[in-house]
Amino acid sequence: MEKYLSQLNEAQLAPTLQKDGPMIVIAGAGSGKTRVLTYRIAYLMHQGVDPFNILSLTFTNKAAREMKERIATIVGQSEAKNLWMGTFHSVFAKILRTEADRLGYPSNFTIYDSQDSDRLIGAIIKEMGLDKDIYKAKQIRSRISSYKNSLITVRAYFQNPELIEADTMARRPRLGDIYKEYVERCFKAGAMDFDDLLLKTNELLTRFPEVLMKYQNRFKYILVDEYQDTNHSQYLIVRALSDKFQNICVVGDDAQSIYAFRGANINNILNFQKDYDDVKLFRLEQNYRSTKNIVNAANSIIDKNETKLDKVVWTANNEGGKIIVNRSLTDSDEGRYVASTIWETKMQNQLKNSDFAVLYRTNAQSRSIEDGLRKRDIPYRIYGGVSFYQRKEIKDVLSYLRLIINPADEEALKRIINFPPRGIGNTTIDKLVVAANSYKRSIFEVMKNIDKTEIRLNAGTRTKLLDFVTMIESYQVLNETADVFELAEYVTRKTGLIQEFKKDTTPEGVTRMENIEELLNGMKDFVEGQKEIADTTGSLAEFLEDVALATDLDADKGDADHVALMTIHLAKGLEFPHVFIVGLEEDLFPSAMSMGTRSELEEERRLFYVALTRAEKQAYLTYALSRYRWGKLVDSEPSRFIGEIDEAYLDIVTPMEERRFNPMLDADIFGDVMPSRTSTTDPNKIRFKPAKQAVLKKSMGEKKEPVKFQVTTPKNLKPVSKANDTENTNLFDNKLAVGNIVKHLRFGSGEVLSIEGVGADVKAEIKFQHGGVKKLLLRFAKLEVI
Ligand code: ATP
Ligand code: MG
Repeated sequence: MEKYLSQLNEAQLAPTLQKDGPMIVIAGAGSGKTRVLTYRIAYLMHQGVDPFNILSLTFTNKAAREMKERIATIVGQSEAKNLWMGTFHSVFAKILRTEADRLGYPSNFTIYDSQDSDRLIGAIIKEMGLDKDIYKAKQIRSRISSYKNSLITVRAYFQNPELIEADTMARRPRLGDIYKEYVERCFKAGAMDFDDLLLKTNELLTRFPEVLMKYQNRFKYILVDEYQDTNHSQYLIVRALSDKFQNICVVGDDAQSIYAFRGANINNILNFQKDYDDVKLFRLEQNYRSTKNIVNAANSIIDKNETKLDKVVWTANNEGGKIIVNRSLTDSDEGRYVASTIWETKMQNQLKNSDFAVLYRTNAQSRSIEDGLRKRDIPYRIYGGVSFYQRKEIKDVLSYLRLIINPADEEALKRIINFPPRGIGNTTIDKLVVAANSYKRSIFEVMKNIDKTEIRLNAGTRTKLLDFVTMIESYQVLNETADVFELAEYVTRKTGLIQEFKKDTTPEGVTRMENIEELLNGMKDFVEGQKEIADTTGSLAEFLEDVALATDLDADKGDADHVALMTIHLAKGLEFPHVFIVGLEEDLFPSAMSMGTRSELEEERRLFYVALTRAEKQAYLTYALSRYRWGKLVDSEPSRFIGEIDEAYLDIVTPMEERRFNPMLDADIFGDVMPSRTSTTDPNKIRFKPAKQAVLKKSMGEKKEPVKFQVTTPKNLKPVSKANDTENTNLFDNKLAVGNIVKHLRFGSGEVLSIEGVGADVKAEIKFQHGGVKKLLLRFAKLEVI
């Protein structure tokens, strides 16, 4: 047997070696589903399958890249390079470019991001004279998006009285008209939005049998990760492509289906066995990721869901620490708790920042966590906020570049036609839009032929418009020979964009300039990288393709050492040694908007299951008793999800934030360090049973009881300075001597080699029997002399 296959257990080996036919692997978190897909691809290649014939669809581009890298170590870089691997969107964007003309699109079509779509929809609503408070652009976009993902085209919409009635009842009778106009405008601009990438692929495969055949023959083997979160549109694509050879392997976990709100259909996984003949079903049960405590706790949560497939998940890993539950008074305290715990744990165990992740339900929660981390100088990175490529200054630069590739791109044009200012006002732009709509041409074409049109503009304005056209056309010429970096560098200088941003000397302005610099650096990297790996030139078109579908996660090169902050949705498939799940409060998590029906609540619970199962070694659950939401301080109650975990797996620690009223503590960040949660002798540690019961009762729907505060010992309220800080620790610095044999909770027994420092900074170097030599700060390392 090949050596790499020995890195799989027997249950994993079975689906890996099952070469042909339809198959599904259903298994819980951390059981090696993604690993099976990876090794299966390597195995197929060893069996002589051409990498060009293997299509593998992942949830993020980052996951695809990591898989490819792993496969490359087994089969070699040059072969792995030829695999078709990526997200649905990136793979099918590539195919659509090749086939675009069949659908009447240029092959250089633009991909509109959600911001472009919102702006266009907003413009349409305005042009139609509709009330923008009733017709909210974002809401309309999400409605259109769900139609597209269910393959409800404009025509299908107008043929379906139920849909029309539903929108009319929702006080939006013109929704269909907006949808129609939006689709037409995208088409005219040579643009596809994200949902189009799937919708148009479906259209391509159904309308053109020869195209379907071509790709069916190409993709002899298809593999899909995270199958539980595919939507209808994605499902149909996979079905169509795999129909001929039926070599389809999907892996997923129904308990981790968390994208129903975006159209994901859990039935895709449940019905897979009905969709193909002779489906082989595989199950994996052993979790390799997490400790026993985490696995068992996660099992006890998902047990509460009624709709689920029966699954066993166990682990041979260590018991690990119990899941730590922490209560804070406010969201700021929660941030401080997270930061100080990371700081402490890092010191104690010599960990990296990247060993920690903080997961939350909504993006807005990151602020208080960030504040806490900043105060302690802990580097962090937020994933999934406004992506780098969506920032204003970056979009401005990219809009010039998009226009060079596709002059019909309406959103790009509107963005920069008068930025930097060149005297083309809004009235002129409005006239151009109207004319473009009536001539059924792009705005750029109208501008180019402005002298042949009947638009009433004065001579000065006409000249300005023609100058703009000439400028873009001159860049198009340059684009034929320059790479993306050279081109962008030239364009930003020549248009005066750089000078425009330089004028702004506020800190925000400086950041903007830095971002543009970063963009240019990124382009340089891209050009070098493309030349090295892909033997291509690093052209503008290639760059824009990359950028359009890049997510924040993809941009992470994994080289910097930072704590990761992200929503739980984004964390799917990832793993971190230490995971904080914050904001575990009713109405926040579960979200107030998702508690109306059992199925919504069950989806929230699956989300919690996903969050908890990201943790390898230690999980922390935190909640605050009050929190700023929508600018107001609101009281909150602990999430029912905490109460749902079997108590055997929990360690509920004393909320030390109650010391926060002490101004000295806030002034001295070293003073508000958490006492160790593992010490039983620590006077600060109080098990808050009564409060916990209040939580449980509440979650079981009993009468609301106020959650009781624990009375903290007066010592906590005393000003704490560095000098008496040791009082808060176990005073070991006086008793410990070189040569002592000590016991550490995590590392076991060891011998003290040396002691250094004074007061709160005393450190001991200890040689542990297992775990080598470690230097520990005694104020944190709860050591026991034996
Ligand atoms: P999720 O449901 O969260 O996507 P998954 O089922 O895809 O999880 P993987 O990410 O493939 O699980 O595996 C979880 C962790 O366990 C990874 O770090 C992986 O490398 C490790 N792992 C999986 N199988 C084995 C094995 N047989 N031996 C050692 N480590 C393994
Ligand atoms: Mg996975």
